[in-house]
Amino acid sequence: MKGAFADMLKILFVASEAVPFVKTGGLADVAGSLPKELAKNKSIDIRVVLPKYSAIPREFRDNMQHIYDGEISVAWRRKFLGVDLYEVNNVKYYFVDNEEYFSRGTLYGHFDDAERFSFFAKAVLEMLPKIDFMPDVIHVNDWHTALLPIYLKTQFADREGYDKIKTVFTIHNLKYQGIFGKDIMNDVLGIDWQYFDNGDLEFYGAVNFMKSGILYADKITTVSPTYAEEIQTEYFGEGLDGVLRANKQKLIGILNGIDIGNYNPRTDEALAKRFGKKHLRFRSDNKVALQEKLHLPIKRTAPMVAMVTRLVQAKGIDLVIRILDEALAQEEDMQFVLLGSGDKYFEDWFKELAFHRRANQVSVTTGFDEKLSRQIYAAADIFLMPSMYEPCGLSQMIAMRYGAVPIVRATGGLQDSVERYNKETQVGNGFVFDNYNAHELLFELQKAVALNRDVASWMQLVYNAMATDFSWKKSADTYKKMYQSL
Ligand code: ADP
Repeated sequence: MKGAFADMLKILFVASEAVPFVKTGGLADVAGSLPKELAKNKSIDIRVVLPKYSAIPREFRDNMQHIYDGEISVAWRRKFLGVDLYEVNNVKYYFVDNEEYFSRGTLYGHFDDAERFSFFAKAVLEMLPKIDFMPDVIHVNDWHTALLPIYLKTQFADREGYDKIKTVFTIHNLKYQGIFGKDIMNDVLGIDWQYFDNGDLEFYGAVNFMKSGILYADKITTVSPTYAEEIQTEYFGEGLDGVLRANKQKLIGILNGIDIGNYNPRTDEALAKRFGKKHLRFRSDNKVALQEKLHLPIKRTAPMVAMVTRLVQAKGIDLVIRILDEALAQEEDMQFVLLGSGDKYFEDWFKELAFHRRANQVSVTTGFDEKLSRQIYAAADIFLMPSMYEPCGLSQMIAMRYGAVPIVRATGGLQDSVERYNKETQVGNGFVFDNYNAHELLFELQKAVALNRDVASWMQLVYNAMATDFSWKKSADTYKKMYQSL
């Protein structure tokens, strides 16, 4: 008799970071919330694998169950492989343990990243019999885990059960591809040179992890429908647009959601005053609290413009720098609040503005601060996200969930999540401009500040933003159908 378990769809989700364990960017949010949402489905058995970094907080590491100890080969060498298990939100998380590779101060940016992550991909395949879980689908994410499909289809192809496994590769950001010198072929990857010579791993004379993921995965997804189209063009393609066009029959875009339980202004303990979309009048208490905290003039009606972002060029920071002085001069009670870190040039420019030229209107905090980010989302009226490109973007969704109206450029997931507000029909949830141009941004900002003074229209717009459904439910359903189609 076939038991209930035999019919379950078995998914192994493999990522280099996931909330609540470790996070450096949007990938961790997705790897934290998509499996959790899929696990609510009784017909899916989804488990996740992560590296066991020393950066994972003690409260988790001390409570992991050690389930395997052994060795695997890395090219011609043998390396230790341990596997630990930790269960949270009804999802089993496996941790690949090897202190030499993962006991470091930071997750990425080490001289041996190629070796650390090729080891990780291989370790995941080696451990399947040890954890007694033969998945129907292995879902890998970004360049760090992109080698897994080629390992599966070459070195593991003749092992029992492995030939039935299908693979999905999700591109969260095409910019970071995992490109390394070809000398890693022999001593690190241990993959036959024929796969370099035939171009599957080769990219302008170097090895490209992401390219092999695109070629060897059975399905490729990316994090918004618009980005799926954009990356097939030269402007957004980062050199891989030709490869993506040639494989477009297996490429789809599925918009990310956000964890609406975690990001909920009605229950968020970081806020001075919690509020829902039907109690918008409480929202401005958060503005006053933030003004106090950041030593800005206390003024409930001052239009507050905010950004929570990595300070890198792709986020459109140069456009903001171009217009900010002018915008602040035009609107003397406007306030600008920034939380972000990244390029030193950008950090210094904003600090100079906040500490010298416009101390009365501007607050800048560099560093990563989850609590402050939530306080900003809940306090600001307007949230700027003028990205050059944006695969999906979570910040604009969190901003809308907390009632901060976004101004975005029409690209990637920003285009798929923000709809221009129309004052006549009262439909729409934000402001959108088309070209990567500072004047277009300034024009939308002026429009937003003007509308902010029209209290009735603004309340409607904030309501619309907060009422938009950014839950994972719909997207998780699309992922499920995609897995089943394999
Ligand atoms: P990306 O992954 O490209 O950085 P996303 O918009 O997809 O951009 O995700 C950014 C996430 O990181 C959001 O949850 C945002 O709130 C958070 N974030 C970015 N910078 C900071 C910061 N300095 N402090 C706290 N949270 C931040």
